[in-house]
Amino acid sequence: MDISTTLNPTPVDDSTLAEILADPGFGDHFTDHMFTVEWTPEKGWHDARITPYGPLTLDPATSVLHYGQEIFEGMKAYRHDDGSVHLFRPEKNAQRMNSSARRLALPEIPEADFIAACEEIVKVDERWVPGSEGEKSLYLRPFMMATEKFLGVRPSRHVTFMVIASPAGAYFKEGLKPVDLWLTEEYSRAGRGGTGAAKTGGNYAASLLAQQEAYDNGCAQVVFLDSVEGRYVEELGGMNLYFVYADGSIVTPATGTILEGITRDSIITIARGLGHEVTERRFEIDEWRKGIESGDIVEIFACGTAAVVSPVGSMKSAQGVTPAPASTELTMKIRSALVDVQFGRAEDTQGWLT
Ligand code: PMP
Repeated sequence: MDISTTLNPTPVDDSTLAEILADPGFGDHFTDHMFTVEWTPEKGWHDARITPYGPLTLDPATSVLHYGQEIFEGMKAYRHDDGSVHLFRPEKNAQRMNSSARRLALPEIPEADFIAACEEIVKVDERWVPGSEGEKSLYLRPFMMATEKFLGVRPSRHVTFMVIASPAGAYFKEGLKPVDLWLTEEYSRAGRGGTGAAKTGGNYAASLLAQQEAYDNGCAQVVFLDSVEGRYVEELGGMNLYFVYADGSIVTPATGTILEGITRDSIITIARGLGHEVTERRFEIDEWRKGIESGDIVEIFACGTAAVVSPVGSMKSAQGVTPAPASTELTMKIRSALVDVQFGRAEDTQGWLT
């Protein structure tokens, strides 16, 4: 893929950038450039370019605005103490983007082009990658959308893939204390045959009402159950879940309708490496309640690129409160093992860094 580059003539000045990087928050600030490539059935992927970051001009009839034919990814670039910058398993994001593309009837993008686009934006905006203190990083948001000007309901014949980047600090404003979860028994995020396993905007739109309910109940994230029986735990609005038992065994839900996280996958490898038995299986909401009551479940944690690993506190629902598990010991150990690889403080034995 040939990428043309037009540099931003008015990049953010150094002192403003230093201020932003001191406390970047999450998703608030964007770098000086963006990557764009277009697709049509006739020409395939073409016109790859890096240009100054800025607003898009879209015709009001652009198909994504009406039917939500859109997918996205989330990944981070980490700066090591020697100044070098690394992506974490970008090929996994490329593969998941393409599995989302298949489900949303969007064109696949060659894995090498996806990675090249991410690498190029990091290179051109390298000064936006924060130092490793406070676990800061540069969050990359690749996304693909239907940009044909057409109101008929069919797969778009013009598609745009872009990558934007945003410096990121701590995801949860309160820091690393256990997050309380709201269990919604009214709303689902994914149905059988639906798009739950794809990273598409509609899933997130469908989760927002439950997310608001969570906030209203003093919780940071929502627990979703399966939509058929309302009995199996799926995941949170933006993170996967793990349950740790007193005997050291670990369970993470698998249902076919969750978004399988790259953090989730990495933790399976890390936990097994630490000698823990990890099982992916359906997990009933009653197992959660009973496991906490009996003390069999000693830790619960949530994981995802944005927050890495977060201990889970209590679970609230219309039926009452299930208290927080007793410990966060293994959670913090797994968290450190993962973060240390990402920031180059531990050996990358799995070859996860690019
Ligand atoms: N589930 C959902 C619904 C998500 O949005 C995310 C974030 N991408 C995850 C799980 C975690 O995935 P990852 O570890 O790849 O960030």
